[in-house]
Amino acid sequence: MAQRTFSIIKPDAVRKGYTGAILAEIDKAGFKIAAIRRQSISNEQAQGFYAVHKERPFFQDLCAFMSSGPLVLMVLEKDNAIADLRKLMGATNPANAEEGTIRKKFAGSIQENAIHGSDAEETAAFEIGYWFAGYELI
Ligand code: ATP
Ligand code: MG
Repeated sequence: MAQRTFSIIKPDAVRKGYTGAILAEIDKAGFKIAAIRRQSISNEQAQGFYAVHKERPFFQDLCAFMSSGPLVLMVLEKDNAIADLRKLMGATNPANAEEGTIRKKFAGSIQENAIHGSDAEETAAFEIGYWFAGYELI
């Protein structure tokens, strides 16, 4: 059965006009878009989403960045979606990202790194439920 993961095209990539190009990469890799929404989020909403990182030194900066402009929230579906999206994204720091990955192509820095993807089944379930209601995923 297909697996679901949660992804964000982050504000840096939206600002630079990469939304369409990143969606094309996701499409080409065989993901189905189960839900998608472009919006801005508040600093408080970012803090709730990234609560697991609240003790990290970059937490405040990260939440300010994520609420700095429109982003694109998505639920993506395919077999092995969680691991396959992480692979397609590339390393957190684009300087270490493999050739051909989204972060290699579109990310500017370790913070402004173009895309988010859930890292495990439990985080995917939390993240999908944080941004989308059940009726949006029928
Ligand atoms: P994401 O969770 O966004 O998919 P990730 O799992 O590759 O990325 P995490 O360790 O979960 O990386 O960090 C979450 C986000 O916090 C990163 O994507 C990046 O935007 C930011 N971040 C991580 N490490 C740093 C750092 N050292 N300095 C600044 N920002 C950072
Ligand atoms: Mg992460």
